[in-house]
Amino acid sequence: MNTAIEFLPARCDVLIIGAGPAGSAAAITLGQAGLDVVLVDQHAFPRDKVCGDGLIPDAHQALAKLGLLDEVMQHAQLASHLSCSSPRGKRIDIQGTLAVLPRKQLDDIVCKAAVAKGARMFAPLRFTQLIEEEDRVVGAHLSQGEHTQQIRADWVILATGAVPAALSAAHITHRQGPSAVAMRCYIKNDAMASQITQLEVIFHKSLAPGYGWIFPCGNGVFNVGVGVFNTGGGLLGQRATARSKVADTNLRDMFDQLSQLSESAKQLINGGEQLGPLKGAPLRCTLEGAQLSRPGLMVTGEAAGSTYALTGEGIGKALETGILAAQAILLNGQLKEDQVRAHYHSQIDALRPRFKLYERAQIFSLYPWLADLVIWRAQKSARLRQRISGLLNETSNPGHLFTLKGLVRLFTH
Ligand SMILES: Cc1cc2nc3c(=O)[nH]c(=O)nc-3n(C[C@H](O)[C@H](O)[C@H](O)COP(=O)(O)OP(=O)(O)OC[C@H]3O[C@@H](n4cnc5c(N)ncnc54)[C@H](O)[C@@H]3O)c2cc1C
Repeated sequence: MNTAIEFLPARCDVLIIGAGPAGSAAAITLGQAGLDVVLVDQHAFPRDKVCGDGLIPDAHQALAKLGLLDEVMQHAQLASHLSCSSPRGKRIDIQGTLAVLPRKQLDDIVCKAAVAKGARMFAPLRFTQLIEEEDRVVGAHLSQGEHTQQIRADWVILATGAVPAALSAAHITHRQGPSAVAMRCYIKNDAMASQITQLEVIFHKSLAPGYGWIFPCGNGVFNVGVGVFNTGGGLLGQRATARSKVADTNLRDMFDQLSQLSESAKQLINGGEQLGPLKGAPLRCTLEGAQLSRPGLMVTGEAAGSTYALTGEGIGKALETGILAAQAILLNGQLKEDQVRAHYHSQIDALRPRFKLYERAQIFSLYPWLADLVIWRAQKSARLRQRISGLLNETSNPGHLFTLKGLVRLFTH
């Protein structure tokens, strides 16, 4: 990683702004194809990123595609299942390929792999403005303190995550506000290390429309947090939007409530030592909120809304969409620029049904009694448990499960 702005080259094939999972995955894919890639981030790495640190099956698959799964799993804490508890304390265990690795380590591994594939990394450098010629993006202005430098590129990839400032600077944002906000801290509690070995998700009416989580990172350290979502569209339409709570939720109060909601949360939080402060961050979900591309520019990862509603899981899809943006750019030459962009859009469109499903499933966080009913029903039905596990593992898409008809059928069959 280079820290000096004066060493920034004047041009490159592809400039990638943001070295999180999306940007670094794009850099790996382009670097190994032999393109001259410059990767920049406003923070020097390794850097902390506010996250639950949970790696669900799609993240495992994308890491495998990048050749990084073994390395990541050497450092990660494996978990055999996801345990969801309902407001009335009922639980279901959903089997899946799961792990936890703090983002400071995960993102550093992925970013270093990009450098190993030939990407030149410069940080801390902040993107402030695009360079445009005849309506085409041809580069960007990057700043470090008071110094600003220009870099030109055949393509620019914006992978700047959920904070909308960079999207606004690129004039491609459709929505400033977040889809969700969440807050987490790390808690050290050695006594609980052998008791909480799975990913725990806690639904409760006092957390609605949101939830709490406890994810074990290993060595007696737990990532503990709460999140609240804007629950618009889908099954509930405007009625749900009216009950949106992102703007007026106090996440600290929610976090305090979490420590009272379940015995394990109580023991963990009250008996443990908090490592560092509680930190919050926004999320952008459902592949909405920004334009996916402009001539010369691709938008990928959470900047393009690639995080799932309901669960807030987004590392896997950030990696995956970063790979897709890079693969589309690699078609340049065989295809015209418009076709390259159309190809990327069609690849993203293919992911939309899954995102819609998570959006519709937000009904569970909005109406906790429904989560109670479904968890109660799932305890009795192996078939239903299998379908929910198929959703987590992305082996099936039980879209009809979260329609009104599907929910009624749950209780009549
Ligand atoms: C509290 C919380 C809990 C979460 N829990 C989970 C979880 O358990 N599992 C999961 O899969 N997902 C989780 N997510 C979602 C996950 O964090 C995101 O989906 C993921 O980080 C998106 O990756 P990305 O590469 O698109 O963006 P990011 O990881 O946000 O990376 C963007 C990068 O761009 C850089 N950047 C931004 N603006 C500029 C600029 N102007 N100039 C230069 N660089 C810039 C940033 O410094 C950053 O490094 C959680 C999110 C939150 C907020």
